[in-house]
Amino acid sequence: MSDVVWADEIAARLHVVEHRIAEIRRQVGRPRASVRLVAVSKRKPAAAIRAAYALGLRDFGENYAQELRDKSVELADLPDLRWHFIGPLQRNKVKLIVGRTALMHTVADPALIAALQERAARSGERLAVLVQLNLAGEQSKSGITADQLAETLARLDAADHLDCAGLMTMPPPADEPATIAPYFVRLRELLEAHQPTQGPAFRELSMGMSDDLEVAIEAGATLVRVGSAIFGARV
Ligand SMILES: *Cc1c(COP(=O)(O)O)cnc(C)c1O
Repeated sequence: MSDVVWADEIAARLHVVEHRIAEIRRQVGRPRASVRLVAVSKRKPAAAIRAAYALGLRDFGENYAQELRDKSVELADLPDLRWHFIGPLQRNKVKLIVGRTALMHTVADPALIAALQERAARSGERLAVLVQLNLAGEQSKSGITADQLAETLARLDAADHLDCAGLMTMPPPADEPATIAPYFVRLRELLEAHQPTQGPAFRELSMGMSDDLEVAIEAGATLVRVGSAIFGARV
């Protein structure tokens, strides 16, 4: 498929997504700047990202460290593009993302925190991170439990090259907004509970994807991670 066809399809889908976001913002009374769209470009070619960039998108999410590295090299001519890392990360891959990533969404276990801190310190970088919560306790997903949040934040406070900017979650798959909403509300409550000690920079809530972005924005999402609704189904 040619890049021109992609560009047309992405433009049409993006229009729908932006309309959905604007509509729910209006309904719940949240200002435009309070919700940022992260376009999840995993397993999509660099040309698709270029097309989305030309349409005004600047935040792109990737799940695989190697893929983020390769695309950041290929798209290095787009200087204000911000990469978000949103997948599970093995410790031996931290070098691929530190120095390239504007926000790392999936920080959880102590070993990963230590590896990110060590790498960022060694290259003289700072890295903004979110703590991933696994609020339903699903075996298949990474993330800490709510009980572990205070100690995780303390560990991040001690890591002087990491800046904790908020929280991220991915609820269990469900069709009903009523089933999903409590997880998003819980994440917001956890953010609010720790804001007094963490300070104003601790303010991001990364939650909501193609199918549930409305539910997430209503609950307070500041970053929605939208893939297939913008780029089409992943094969
Ligand atoms: C793939 C992915 C998304 C995007 O999912 P869509 O349903 O395609 O919007 C969002 N967040 C994470 C963590 C993902 O892995």
